[in-house]
Amino acid sequence: MSEVVISSFINGLHVQGSGERFDSLNPATGLAYAAVHDASQADVDGAVAAAQAGFLVWSAMSATERGRILRRAADILRSRNDELAALEVQDCGKPLQEALVVDVASGADCIEYFAGAAATLTGQQYPLKNAFAYTRKEPLGVCVGIGAWNYPIQIACWKSAPALAAGNAMIFKPSELTPATAVKLAEVYLEAGVPPGVFNVLQGRGATGAMLAAHEGVAKVSVTGSVATGKRVMQTAAGTLKRVTMELGGKSPLVIFDDADLEQAVAAAMMGNFYTQGEVCTNCTRVFVQRGIADRFLARLKERTLLLRVGDPMNPETEVGALISEAHATKVMDYIASGVAEGATLVCGGERVAVAGQGSNFVAPTIFADCTDSMRIVREEIFGPVLSMLTFDTEAEAIARANHSRFGLAAGVFTTNLQKGHRVAAALKAGICWINNYNITPIEMPFGGVGESGIGSENSMAALDHYTQLKTVYVEMGEVATGYR
Ligand code: NDP
Repeated sequence: MSEVVISSFINGLHVQGSGERFDSLNPATGLAYAAVHDASQADVDGAVAAAQAGFLVWSAMSATERGRILRRAADILRSRNDELAALEVQDCGKPLQEALVVDVASGADCIEYFAGAAATLTGQQYPLKNAFAYTRKEPLGVCVGIGAWNYPIQIACWKSAPALAAGNAMIFKPSELTPATAVKLAEVYLEAGVPPGVFNVLQGRGATGAMLAAHEGVAKVSVTGSVATGKRVMQTAAGTLKRVTMELGGKSPLVIFDDADLEQAVAAAMMGNFYTQGEVCTNCTRVFVQRGIADRFLARLKERTLLLRVGDPMNPETEVGALISEAHATKVMDYIASGVAEGATLVCGGERVAVAGQGSNFVAPTIFADCTDSMRIVREEIFGPVLSMLTFDTEAEAIARANHSRFGLAAGVFTTNLQKGHRVAAALKAGICWINNYNITPIEMPFGGVGESGIGSENSMAALDHYTQLKTVYVEMGEVATGYR
């Protein structure tokens, strides 16, 4: 058992949960590096009470004041980039070279964006006969954020920044597998001037999330996780008719036409399958390539994929790190075995990689060709570095097959034909569609899925709608019209 304890954070204080203790493992070494305590029902009640009190203080401030404090938080976060990036690598096994430029930086961008947006939240005015009405965008109260383990600090920022900008308080529950950086974010918010109780972190496993989703004092739950968890949380939240937003899984298509820039398309397919060792929800794990360029595409994809360096995530040269856990690595290997068993051609990868001084959670970037739509590797989310390539002949065929999925998170299209690019983007069933790029998620643009991939959007001004409720106020300028005597 580790001596380092990662705490919860309630009302501005580090607090040890009163539930069971469990270890947090470093995915690269497979060794415990810290211990965590589940938050119990009493801890959940305490956090909700603290958040309710924090909400009263925070929502009474002017939006400009809140924005100023959030802006300071973004600056503090950026100043701690390298330290927090290293912590993120220790917690989730991704390459340091990614964490140094993406995870903390994108979180800081998000806080900065919503800091600026806070004071722009306004309602509308409706002229009426002898009257007018106006709307107010009011905060919801106490919101809960529940995070996945692949982008822990980014997810905590994507949920907390719009929530706080709109005047809400938040309780964030990170994944049990990546408890470390959410607490650091809580420290940053406090240092920036966010009052105690406004941003709280509760550590724990699924049961802690379920207690939060059920709590009467909570107005809204935003989850990033699997489809199964999203459905469970919706059921739980329905008990008190809470608002929910869901950022869930996917099996996204990338459609590459034979007029595409081949090198660019290969780069996008690699980035959309092997970045963060494939543990990205929007990944284009179904790569549809038009038959005319399929052989050339595959040859170049294989050539470049074989150059990827799998290794110790803390080594700055490493491009593909460790999968999150032994259980997950085994699941990914089982999918690879099912691809082989179902007749897909294993082009490269397909095995675990031995990394000196590290554990066994490293899987080589894997390419399958000759895939068919019915194979498990083509239908189910693997969440690892496994790319399935499929070929197609016509635009209509590509659209129909790409859309044949219960998911609808993201999609991509590569073509140099302007009309075709927009036409296909419009036809694809997805919440986000990239033309001639993939997996680019600037804070300015909405992010979210359709179908079983989710409900609602994160990022952009669209996110603020999910953290506010409209109140309509009618103002009488005449007399109360009634036939009463
Ligand atoms: P899980 O669904 O296993 O967990 C997500 C979070 O929900 C965790 O904090 C988990 O806690 C918690 N949780 C589990 N059960 C419950 C419950 N009954 N009530 C409330 N909370 C609960 O997902 P993973 O962490 O394994 O993440 C991988 C998944 O997340 C993939 O499907 C991926 O596609 C998706 N994802 C989606 C993104 C998007 O934006 N669309 C982005 C990133 C990932 P604990 O960890 O303790 O089990």
